[in-house]
Amino acid sequence: MPSSHVMETYKRLPVAFASGSGATLVDTDGREYLDAVSGIAVCNLGHAHPAVTEALCSQAGRLVHTSNLYGVPLQEEVGAELGRLSGLDRVFFANSGAEANEAAIKLARRLGHAREIERPEIVVMQGSFHGRTMATLTATGNRRVQAGFEPLVPGFKRIPYNDLEAVERVASESTVAVLVEPIQGEGGVTVPDAEYLAGLRRLCDDRGWLLMLDEVQTGMGRTGAWFAYQHAGIRPDVVTVAKALGNGFPVGAMLATESAAELLGPGTHATTFGGSPLAMAAVGAVLRAMEEEGLVARAAETGDYLKARLEETVGRRPEVREIRGKGLMLGIEVDADLSGLMPKALEHGLLVNVTAERVIRLLPPLILTREQADRIAEGLDYLLGELL
Ligand SMILES: *Cc1c(COP(=O)(O)O)cnc(C)c1O
Repeated sequence: MPSSHVMETYKRLPVAFASGSGATLVDTDGREYLDAVSGIAVCNLGHAHPAVTEALCSQAGRLVHTSNLYGVPLQEEVGAELGRLSGLDRVFFANSGAEANEAAIKLARRLGHAREIERPEIVVMQGSFHGRTMATLTATGNRRVQAGFEPLVPGFKRIPYNDLEAVERVASESTVAVLVEPIQGEGGVTVPDAEYLAGLRRLCDDRGWLLMLDEVQTGMGRTGAWFAYQHAGIRPDVVTVAKALGNGFPVGAMLATESAAELLGPGTHATTFGGSPLAMAAVGAVLRAMEEEGLVARAAETGDYLKARLEETVGRRPEVREIRGKGLMLGIEVDADLSGLMPKALEHGLLVNVTAERVIRLLPPLILTREQADRIAEGLDYLLGELL
């Protein structure tokens, strides 16, 4: 018998948490940690937010699941709110980021077939991350995610990120869409030029392609706007969200303009759990709490503050190459081996993440206080001092 019955698909740190509140987590021995990861940009409202807990508990006592065979009034309510916040018209509810992206990929292929393109192609980026299902891992620009799972799904063309000319070069008669993250998260908190999204919008308009934004990580206020594309003042055709949408309750969504949404008519796409009354209660509570607490503006402000504090602390170290990001999605690129950082930070009572090997990624909850931001900057500075 193995010592664990859980498959070893994850590399886990030696800690388990028993409870949490706001930006604080408490482990099974009662030790406290300051959480600058939020379960990877999921618990944006902090842990165990009372309004989300109350919405989940009261909805669970009434009705958990019916089926999309029937009407789900809460989908209409939440859909209208998401439409108002995003400027898009329609929503398809799913259960994860990968599933929301699968829906977007299927939608783009429908456009191709409506145009009698036999093998429609979607343009995707190097360094991207879109999920771990077969189509989304194919769309992902990281060989480590793909290796060993071939054959991959056809119909994707990959180009460098933040390179508008590359989009023109790769275009063919079969191109139907561009799928891109407004800021690459897993890829290393890579921020493109300010004109990049607007440039993509223009290209897609000229050629009749869909601009599909993966906002699974950047969405829901993380970057100091409800959606990161709002910084660029554009309206995409399709947007996917998930991570923070339910503050930890698993739920994803694909938002689309009316004309894009029409490509997926009745019977073309479905998922059993999508948009359950329980999931919708969670999302409704998240959206209300975000507005009541003004968390989008607060993410922008606290993000600027944390970035400035990081510049003054870790930014002084010669090994630190760049501090970048928007709102409370920040990356610190370091010219050093960071493999020891996460365990060391854990011992120090701080949860941080390392991605793309050399980038410390900070995704604290949007309710972070300035005092907690100070602790993150000073804690990281101390840890880098120990490590480098
Ligand atoms: C996390 C993530 C996904 C995948 O979401 P899952 O819920 O893990 O399937 C997709 N795209 C981006 C940008 C992400 O950060």
